[in-house]
Amino acid sequence: MADCIFCMLANHDIPTSVVYEDDEMFCFKDADPQAPVHVLLIPKKHIECLDDLKEEDAPLVGRMMLKIQDIAKNLGLENGYRVVSNNGEDAFQTVKHLHFHILGKRKMTWPPG
Ligand code: 5GP
Ligand code: ZN
Repeated sequence: MADCIFCMLANHDIPTSVVYEDDEMFCFKDADPQAPVHVLLIPKKHIECLDDLKEEDAPLVGRMMLKIQDIAKNLGLENGYRVVSNNGEDAFQTVKHLHFHILGKRKMTWPPG
């Protein structure tokens, strides 16, 4: 999608700190980290949010969920981490391209804000 910042990052139109990449997903450091480790995992395919997932996206999302454990290990998150996906206005989703925040290296609180 031409005017989507995350599509631009995944296409390497804009340089960023790449953490992991393959044919269908892209992981990079968040520009405004909320924890000592804060990366975002996105599908390369433009999907706006969780609500826009289709049945055909299930294998892609399944592989993304499985990839998180590898990414977390490579980032040294053996003591735990949090995965967050903000969906829509009430959740304060600011970028309309599906993404999973992976946060770690600090104690998280609950409930989230
Ligand atoms: P949301 O609020 O939509 O769940 O999260 C969007 C995240 O994307 C935020 O944590 C924000 O810091 C991050 N972000 C927004 N624009 C950019 C960018 O251009 N580069 C990077 N690396 N992160 C971005
Ligand atoms: Zn996009």
